[in-house]
Amino acid sequence: MIVQKFGGTSVQDATAMRRVAGIVTRETDRPVLVVLSACAGVTNALLGLAGTAESGDVGEVLAAVESLKQRHLQLAEELLAGRPQHRLAEYNLEEWFRRLETFANAIAVTKELTPRAKDYIASFGERSSSLIFSAFLETLGVDSALVDARHCLITDASFTSAVPLFEKSQERLDREVRPLFSRCRCVVTQGFIGSTEDGLTTTIGRGGSDYSAAIFASLLDAEELQIWTDTDGILTADPTVVPSARNIREMTFSEASELAYFGARVLHPSTILPAVQKKIPVRVLNSHRPDSAGTLILPKALASSPGSIKSIAYKEGIILVNIVSTRMFLAHGFLESVFDVFHKYQTVVHTVATSEVSVSVTIDSGKNLEEIARELSVFSTVTISPSKAIVCVVGENLRNMPGITARVFKALGNTSINMISQGASEINLSFVIEEQAVDETVNHLHREFFSDTADRRDLS
Ligand code: ASP
Ligand code: MG
Repeated sequence: MIVQKFGGTSVQDATAMRRVAGIVTRETDRPVLVVLSACAGVTNALLGLAGTAESGDVGEVLAAVESLKQRHLQLAEELLAGRPQHRLAEYNLEEWFRRLETFANAIAVTKELTPRAKDYIASFGERSSSLIFSAFLETLGVDSALVDARHCLITDASFTSAVPLFEKSQERLDREVRPLFSRCRCVVTQGFIGSTEDGLTTTIGRGGSDYSAAIFASLLDAEELQIWTDTDGILTADPTVVPSARNIREMTFSEASELAYFGARVLHPSTILPAVQKKIPVRVLNSHRPDSAGTLILPKALASSPGSIKSIAYKEGIILVNIVSTRMFLAHGFLESVFDVFHKYQTVVHTVATSEVSVSVTIDSGKNLEEIARELSVFSTVTISPSKAIVCVVGENLRNMPGITARVFKALGNTSINMISQGASEINLSFVIEEQAVDETVNHLHREFFSDTADRRDLS
């Protein structure tokens, strides 16, 4: 059994849904659990509608519900017209949007929007997309079943960012979903939504469908988790900076985690953790180009070439803070005092480099910067330099790849470097440069490691 998750843009309209059906039905050997997001833009529209309801604007609320209803009815029409499944889907959609309207109206009257109500409203997106999609699969003659994720993803009651309860969800999945696979090739369900044990609708946080899919994969012991999105997996660099960036065929989970901070927007690795912990391979694929290879994310132990450079990442808008101790040389407790200040202002420090009397750190938020500087100045001399960027070379076992550092610095040429840090994980080599040098630097590095003349062993 495998789990295939499709994001909002993969199910945004009839064309996209047809493509998804093609992908699902291509899997002829293995049963599939399909986990769907709401159609692109629908969750935003629903939450917008909730906000409008809170402000009491009944007219706007009705218009917003109507427009969402029409969008889904239209989608059902395009995919199901003339088939017996159409009437039923239409009936359900009409009924659901009627309930949504009544509910939103009540909020508009009381002008009170609770997180619990928000989750209930948000749930209509995933429920509608999956209802239409499963009906469409039926018209194609696929033995399929639609399961309401609220029956099997059990969460706590922290509405809008509910925490899944694994044991409870396991029981439900074993009881309600596992047996379906003996008679269905395909089970369709929703990402993002769940419910408390006593049946109140919850959501697990925006963009939560990947996480839902990973939980289902883990608890159902899937062979593979496929995350279908709208890009060709994870790339060797940001294609807007490096047009020749290509997709990374295989990488480890830690490499993917490292890239997440640098805005590898494709997926947030913590969301696939439940699958990774069970050593379930995760594939990131492009539903608009189903035949492209995508990226396979594996635990290090299963990776075929754990020692190679995978990606050149960068992040702009970095602030470099240099802190020089005015205390006595060799005084202890200096670093502790420095980090206490960052801790106090809940500021995340990303990279750190130290010498005996100074420490340089990077942060990416200017919040409370004045207070932080003032407190650090009590025991040190502080210089703050904004408009920096971190550039980072990512790959497992960097330290054990002879010559890598030399190649990195050769590629950097005359770029002046403000700070260097090699993570203890040996997985990244990061350095801080001026923001305006990012394009050039990333391109030089990419050429060094990924150009056609570069050592192809660096790609896997
Ligand atoms: N539809 C939800 C959102 O837009 C969940 C998801 O797509 O992952 O946040
Ligand atoms: Mg989404």
